[in-house]
Amino acid sequence: MEVPTKPEEIIFRSKLPDIYIPKHLPLHSYCFENISKFSTRPCLINGATGDVYTYEEVEMTSRKVASGLSQLGIQQGETIMLLLPNTPEYVFAFLGASYIGAVSTMANPFFTPAEVIKQAKASAAKLIITLACYVDKVRDYAASAGVKVMCVDAQAEGCLSFSQLTSADERDMPAVKIHPEDAVALPYSSGTTGLPKGVMLTHKGLVTSVAQQVDGENPNLYIHSEDVMLCVLPLFHIYSLNSVLLCGLRVGAAILIMQKFDIVPFLELIQKYKVTIGPFVPPIVLAIAKSPLVGKYDISSVRMVMSGAAPLGKELEDSVRTKFPNAKLGQGYGMTEAGPVLSMCLAFAKEAFEIKSGACGTVVRNAEMKIVDPQTAASLARNQSGEICIRGDQIMKGYLNDPESTKSTIDQDGWLHTGDIGFIDADDELFIVDRLKEIIKYKGFQVAPAEIEALLLNNPYISDAAVVSMQDEQAGEVPVAFVVRSNGSNITEDEIKQFVSKQVIFYKRIYRVFFVDAIPKSPSGKILRKDLRARLAAAV
Ligand code: AMP
Repeated sequence: MEVPTKPEEIIFRSKLPDIYIPKHLPLHSYCFENISKFSTRPCLINGATGDVYTYEEVEMTSRKVASGLSQLGIQQGETIMLLLPNTPEYVFAFLGASYIGAVSTMANPFFTPAEVIKQAKASAAKLIITLACYVDKVRDYAASAGVKVMCVDAQAEGCLSFSQLTSADERDMPAVKIHPEDAVALPYSSGTTGLPKGVMLTHKGLVTSVAQQVDGENPNLYIHSEDVMLCVLPLFHIYSLNSVLLCGLRVGAAILIMQKFDIVPFLELIQKYKVTIGPFVPPIVLAIAKSPLVGKYDISSVRMVMSGAAPLGKELEDSVRTKFPNAKLGQGYGMTEAGPVLSMCLAFAKEAFEIKSGACGTVVRNAEMKIVDPQTAASLARNQSGEICIRGDQIMKGYLNDPESTKSTIDQDGWLHTGDIGFIDADDELFIVDRLKEIIKYKGFQVAPAEIEALLLNNPYISDAAVVSMQDEQAGEVPVAFVVRSNGSNITEDEIKQFVSKQVIFYKRIYRVFFVDAIPKSPSGKILRKDLRARLAAAV
């Protein structure tokens, strides 16, 4: 019998050779594997208070937290929710959970109660760790679902205190056997379509991803133990958790924690602590490029500025270069489901590769990338644009309790389909040119159109709706809605905006409403978003 052969695939790999990756290690063991070399050096610096925690303190506190979590009844395989801004306790809780084989799901503390509860329920979180000011968002749900709530700052009625964990005896930490395929982090992402889903990132996946960025013969690839990394991006986004915190821990860098971006404290902290690495997103890059204050501070210590999570325009890239005289500026490309890093700029590799403006670097080591024609699925050669696919141990294990969505994202050959369109040039540099998938990226935050559409369809005065992205200078993209009014309804644009904004976090708010007679759909009922984007372009 003739066996059909697969057409030959064109696979792209890193410009650098593969490396050894200790995939058998649990994430915390991997992060602290070389700690004896820098145990007394600063690990976490709390920018708000000036408190400094050395590596040995961070390791010890995380072990105590692991013990404390276990004494609270958190078992291996169970999930805790971190509903926190960037704080040292975030780090202790995440690592503590890892030690006992528990999973951390991370949520934006500015979420509305409904958004937090949806994630807490879906992830079956047994404990929610938060600040006293956010307790009211979860109090009723927690009481009815038997979920514990813990505050890291002040005492709050009916809540546990984080000091209960940090005062536990680390020797009581249970001995657990962690399998490399066990999940350790559960961020939520809508991926290429639909509603947000729990992305199961395993010990092996995160160890691999961090190693791909910082391990190997080429130690100066990106960071080293002398570096001071600014951690201003929220740790509830995998970019910050992985490429700032976990990479920083692995190499022994100092991680300077900032709760939120404000240009003055941001510049002050860079100057005060002589920050060397700035992992940013395009809106921060924009704020730096536009601020007249930048020249008033000495930020010459910065040697690397990284931008990721959303597209960075060429002009912006060029203009921010002039603000950091001693820094190289490079982009990285990530997607939560991909672990998250797919490609990175190799600015500091021994080989000194050229940084190309607009490029997202080269595919990470120990991974394969291919570019496929979205219509035919044929794999494409250099300089041809198609859907970016990635394969390797770093990608997610799958979506929690959602085998269907997992199957439509990771194919049977192990390729994760990103829904992004790009090409790879003659020098192995990846350029992203478009997005096939639905998601909208507001300042790097995900907005899932399906989530807003579901809210709109709940309104009795709306009979159909579709949400697409509109370009915006500050935010990159903002959501706008096409709405079909119900028979006899006179609902206004303002009423619709208010209806949505009451139910969602600020970045999911609708910016414009366009009333239409019908939402264009394919015969199978799929919204034709491309048509709507074309209409939008004509309208604005
Ligand atoms: P998230 O899962 O929230 O990290 O979002 C992932 C998506 O953000 C990717 O699939 C891209 O659409 C977009 N993205 C991330 N990094 C970049 C980049 N450097 N340039 C353009 N888009 C990016």
